Amino acid sequence: MSQIETVVTVVAAVAAALLLLKRLVRWVSFPCQFCSAKVKTFDQVNAEDRAGILAYFHEHERREPDEGGLFVCTNCKTVHDDFSGEKKSWDADAYSCRTFCKVCGRMMSGCEPEKEKVACPGCGTEYRWQVHERSGYRFFTPPAGAPLRSKAPGGLDGI
Ligand SMILES: [Zn+2]
Ligand SMILES: [Zn+2]
Repeated sequence: MSQIETVVTVVAAVAAALLLLKRLVRWVSFPCQFCSAKVKTFDQVNAEDRAGILAYFHEHERREPDEGGLFVCTNCKTVHDDFSGEKKSWDADAYSCRTFCKVCGRMMSGCEPEKEKVACPGCGTEYRWQVHERSGYRFFTPPAGAPLRSKAPGGLDGI
């Protein structure tokens, strides 16, 4: 192995380790924006709730969510989805209630739960915190049939 290859390998290993650590720290300490309980990662939730949560995404948003980006509060039954800006901002300002617009990808702030509806400043799409009947979980819900992106804008966390 040449010296450059060695350096590249070491850098890649360190980057992978940091990424893992960041994910670990995030799920250990990320608080729910509604009730401040610790949220769970999607795979920590029981199978029945997982199925209900996925059903919401399939039925209402017609997309496959990034399961690694879903954080679930089983205390107040809220799903912080993969477009939630908390992924990016939780350590600086955990309760700022930010999320990316699922239509145009713009960062929206002020998505507090007590607001009845929140309109995206970029494209005007209106979202509501709504409880999905089958799962009993609350989601930041775009209008039915809105032309949603399948993924949140890249580079969330800068990783
Ligand atoms: Zn909660
Ligand atoms: Zn928008």
